[in-house]
Amino acid sequence: MAWDFETDPEFQKKLDWIEDFMREEVEPLSHLGVAPYSSVGREKLIKPLQQRVKDQGLWACHLGPELGGQGFGQLKLALMNEKLGRNSLAPTIFGCQAPDTGNAEIIAHYGTQAQKDRWLKPLLEGEIRSAFSMSEPTGGSDPLTFRTTAALDGNEWVINGEKWFSTNARYAKLLVVYAVTDPDAKDPYRRTSIFLVPTETPGVEIVRNVAVGAGGEIGGGNEAYVRYTNVRVPRDALLGDRGAAFVIAQVRLGGGRVHHAMRTVGACKHALDLMCRRAVSRTTREGRLSDLQMVQDQIAESWIAVESFRLLVLRTAWLIDKHKDYAKVRKDIAAIKVAMPKVYHDVATKAAHLHGALGVSNEMPFMHMVTSSLVMGIADGPTEVHKVTLAKQILKDYQPENDLFPSYHIPRLREEAHKRFARELEEIKSHYAGRSRAAANAQVE
Ligand SMILES: Cc1cc2nc3c(=O)[nH]c(=O)nc-3n(C[C@H](O)[C@H](O)[C@H](O)COP(=O)(O)OP(=O)(O)OC[C@H]3O[C@@H](n4cnc5c(N)ncnc54)[C@H](O)[C@@H]3O)c2cc1C
Repeated sequence: MAWDFETDPEFQKKLDWIEDFMREEVEPLSHLGVAPYSSVGREKLIKPLQQRVKDQGLWACHLGPELGGQGFGQLKLALMNEKLGRNSLAPTIFGCQAPDTGNAEIIAHYGTQAQKDRWLKPLLEGEIRSAFSMSEPTGGSDPLTFRTTAALDGNEWVINGEKWFSTNARYAKLLVVYAVTDPDAKDPYRRTSIFLVPTETPGVEIVRNVAVGAGGEIGGGNEAYVRYTNVRVPRDALLGDRGAAFVIAQVRLGGGRVHHAMRTVGACKHALDLMCRRAVSRTTREGRLSDLQMVQDQIAESWIAVESFRLLVLRTAWLIDKHKDYAKVRKDIAAIKVAMPKVYHDVATKAAHLHGALGVSNEMPFMHMVTSSLVMGIADGPTEVHKVTLAKQILKDYQPENDLFPSYHIPRLREEAHKRFARELEEIKSHYAGRSRAAANAQVE
């Protein structure tokens, strides 16, 4: 019976290497601020670290060996991502940064050879970046409301519309665009298609780069508001089948949600770690914060929440490895998507609170964590939508009961039990027949 919580010693060595590398190389580099992301910074600072990850055979581990990854599977990936999740630079160093990962995966699955030759290799090598351009300013939660269109004109598709929060479009060479191609299709989920659009195509315009969180310069963020005006791409820019966008996007987002959850486990553990470090260090007249019961309550509650979430994520990863089909793990993926923002928000808020004024300052990571926790409840679909998915998945195994009182109504169960055990009841009663009625009944009951 395989139901243990041990890590293979061989893989543990890799995790240990990642732990050291994170502490000694990635985290110090991330404290430089934005410098590593400049083009010179990437060459000087990021590429050498990426090379060390490649040398260790840990590059792009979400991919199978046929695409240059390790084919570790989701469970090992979850354990790795726990370590990467505590630092936002880490996914770039390990070749698994969103949205490039998801875009590469769908090109690998659905792309033609020509599309793979042009886009996949440079994406996997980390040589170019990409954006996923699906959500629209008029509403992102429901793909059936999207208005951006792509119409065939001779041998070209002509794309018109607006997209919102296309992460990293400002750095991207490739935009993966979701557009309505068949508005009259009977099945509403077959009305949209996906296109691979070079960012330099005439008609692509970044209206504004929106930043997440408070402060910062308006227009200085990474979430692009993109306008497509008569953007012409060749017929073969279509990815996969015409009308298949919904299915392709679900495949993409299924993996993305799990990977976000894996990294969020790491971020939550990091917040808890900082909370504990502060609790044992800061003193009041009563002693250390960690001596106070209300502080202990927060630490205990946070640990339970983080570990429960972690186990849910690991079990979901294990299920994906087992079924090799995201559709079969929909319920579990929806559950971790719902749990993720809440657990992260709770622990990040408590960690900030325990640090007092310092905790809410921009000299600590907690405000960024709190904002990120809110993002986790919105990006890849809002919590409410995933709760509905989860509830539907749970309820699909239940049938309605038509009686006024349900089959689990205690009087009914009692009556059925009395019928079923009538003979035994009689035997017990006759055994006690010589005693008082009350005593006999008491024995039977
Ligand atoms: C940091 C970040 C990065 C993102 N990156 C990308 C990206 O790269 N590409 C991309 O295409 N999109 C991206 N998005 C967009 C994201 O997918 C959408 O924000 C999300 O789908 C919600 O759409 P919306 O923002 O338009 O909110 P709306 O659809 O307007 O929803 C707003 C709120 O209304 C409520 N609501 C909506 N629908 C329902 C419902 N059915 N039931 C109950 N309540 C509901 C929820 O409270 C929801 O939060 C990103 C978002 C963020 C925050």
